[in-house]
Amino acid sequence: MSLTKDYTLNIEKINTSRIGQVDFKNLVFGTTFTDHMFECDYKNGAWQNPTIRPYGPLSIYPSSKVLHYGQAVFEGMKAYKDEKGSIFLFRPLENLKRINISSKRLAIPEFPEELFFEALETLLKMDKAWAQTGVGNSLYIRPFVIANENCVSASPSNEYKFMIIISPVSAYYSGELKVVIAEQYSRSADGGVGFAKAAGNYAAQFYPTNLAKEKGFQQVIWTDSNSHKYLEEAGTMNVFFRINDTLITAPTSDRILDGVTRKSVIALAERDGIKVDVRKLTVTELVEAAKDGSLKEIFGSGTAAVISFVNGFSYKNTLYNLPKIENSYAKRFKKELMDIQYNLAADPFEWRHKV
Ligand code: PMP
Repeated sequence: MSLTKDYTLNIEKINTSRIGQVDFKNLVFGTTFTDHMFECDYKNGAWQNPTIRPYGPLSIYPSSKVLHYGQAVFEGMKAYKDEKGSIFLFRPLENLKRINISSKRLAIPEFPEELFFEALETLLKMDKAWAQTGVGNSLYIRPFVIANENCVSASPSNEYKFMIIISPVSAYYSGELKVVIAEQYSRSADGGVGFAKAAGNYAAQFYPTNLAKEKGFQQVIWTDSNSHKYLEEAGTMNVFFRINDTLITAPTSDRILDGVTRKSVIALAERDGIKVDVRKLTVTELVEAAKDGSLKEIFGSGTAAVISFVNGFSYKNTLYNLPKIENSYAKRFKKELMDIQYNLAADPFEWRHKV
């Protein structure tokens, strides 16, 4: 949805920044927020009153639809600061497109591209001091939309609130992951909302993930809901398997999120001459490959941690450990991606977006 510029972005600045109170060396992911936030309401069929104002509480009624029906979608993206102090986004148009894909599925009105970029870039310029230099440090950006009509009938809301909040972060996951392959629970189903970043998708993952954690695993590898035979995603990441020298990842579908990191890894692999098979991989094939030693690597891809290394998986109560290998693809893609994100390397695909 494009919008001709008939709006004014209102700006209310903070009086005193909170930045001095922040211990940037000990950030806990997603708990600290920058001085300002963006807010825009949808009423009477139009987005209106776009405003950047000090980060703070919202006032909503208990009858607000989001509280009852979870009609909400979100995005996760990052901004990086290079050594010269310039700020870059990574493929931000992909996130705007995806929030609108998610919104459509949740019967939420799409948000205009021009306003999104003006709001995001203005907000980032205002809160630039919160971005720390150094590879691994970034600003995690959370755009989201909530249904905000005061009405408890189970039908789409007539009013919405679109917001952007920003959190300074250092590396998200630390260490390698042990994962368990889902045999009972699913995160998404055919015809459902798995391809959307719908709030409820994440709430529904918490319980099975807790069960995995109780058994000493950090994440669940989700399988298809019909047969639990095909490997689909890892926690809140897309997942890649390296069998011999071929990289395998599931094709996107209505059950799988079309990850920005996933498509960037595929592009880098193809550029680097690494064979990528975008195809369904069965759990049986994975177990066979683990047994005969052809399984070399498993890794997750996502904005928060870029690439997460998996060093073992459990299936039907058997643990399969992955070998330590030289020339890891996961390490290589992590470095290649971060070098582009932090303006440390050329940007052949034009993924960097200078703010
Ligand atoms: N799958 C799911 C379910 C996710 O929530 C995410 C995080 N957005 C991803 C994959 C990775 O997507 P991206 O690379 O765009 O962050």
